[in-house]
Amino acid sequence: MKPNILIVEDESAIADTIQYALETEGFETCILSSGEQVMQTLSKGSFHLVILDVGLPDINGFELCKKIRKSHTLPIIFLTARSDEIDRVVGLEIGGDDYIIKPFSPRELSARVRAVLRRALPNILSAGETSCDPIPIQDGAFQIDKAKRRISYFGSVPDLSKYEYDLMQLFISHPGQVFARDHLMDKVWDEPGMSMDRTVDAHIKNIRAKLKQIKPDLDPIVTHRGLGYALKEDL
Ligand code: CA
Repeated sequence: MKPNILIVEDESAIADTIQYALETEGFETCILSSGEQVMQTLSKGSFHLVILDVGLPDINGFELCKKIRKSHTLPIIFLTARSDEIDRVVGLEIGGDDYIIKPFSPRELSARVRAVLRRALPNILSAGETSCDPIPIQDGAFQIDKAKRRISYFGSVPDLSKYEYDLMQLFISHPGQVFARDHLMDKVWDEPGMSMDRTVDAHIKNIRAKLKQIKPDLDPIVTHRGLGYALKEDL
């Protein structure tokens, strides 16, 4: 049995990132974008943990937590964007098990989820690990899901266009290899004759900007003057 996590978060980009990070690690997830259906969903399904945004549109996450606590004992991890809320989370009055401050890395989130589950339900992780396929360990900066044409970078999934994805897939499959612009054109573009070198440059620029949003102090793409581009090795 896979651990089943209920994600209550109204910002869909954050909810999707959490879902992707947890499902990549072998968890099952369900997303609710408001507090409204939480009680009903919890009573219908068998969940092992709740990730609960404090700032929901219809109910304060703290109030919701108290409500959940009246009938459920499962662990609750708060998501909060406000450091002034942390005192209340940490204070025992609320009944949360842990908290994560936004922005957070998906990898950090997965680690917290595991730690809380291990503490609260020691059998669930080991049962899951022995009866299912091993939960993949995510190492390295990039992971590719070719079936879904999705690339995750340090656990986050940048929104890449078709060509940006194709370029990155090529780089990730050949770390350290320098690709000339015209080589990239041949490999990635359908009609190489139609485009100019600077199309590659423009796409690389966009990719860098998107990766930078996830990891501001790292540029994994190296420009080799007069030669082309390569992905850094040992990321
Ligand atoms: Ca929110």
